[in-house]
Amino acid sequence: MRLALAEAALAPPTGDVPVGCVVLGPDGSVIGRGHNEREAVGDPTAHAEMVAIREAAEAVCEWRLTGCTLVVTLEPCTMCAGAIVLSRVDRVVYGAVDDKAGAAGSLWDVIRDRRLNHRPEVVPGVLAEECGAVLTSFFDGHRADPAPVKAPGAGKDF
Ligand SMILES: [Zn+2]
Repeated sequence: MRLALAEAALAPPTGDVPVGCVVLGPDGSVIGRGHNEREAVGDPTAHAEMVAIREAAEAVCEWRLTGCTLVVTLEPCTMCAGAIVLSRVDRVVYGAVDDKAGAAGSLWDVIRDRRLNHRPEVVPGVLAEECGAVLTSFFDGHRADPAPVKAPGAGKDF
């Protein structure tokens, strides 16, 4: 998660919401990294998880990421949850809960939906306060009129 947080720190200079992600191979080595670069590249699908999954698949030269673990600072959205299931990673570890758009147990639980034949293990809330604080301070800095933030990760547009 520390590596994912370091990735998240790379996002703000481009105006992107600071979310970071790493994919670990079966041996625990980092095979994919990504941060949210939606603004930087003008791509609505350029969430941290998507970028890291693409890099990991390139590293292993195939689309199946069996035995891999994806670590991300914010609970994945529906798009990323879908990509996570399709990539067949074994485990998803996330930091802050996204009660507005989370698809790993908050608003939806796409990743552990019993109707799907691949259901990665989900480990929520790892360094959740730290991951949420990164987002809170980013959004505080972007608000002309700061509104109270009720929970880590709340109030983000993503
Ligand atoms: Zn996403």
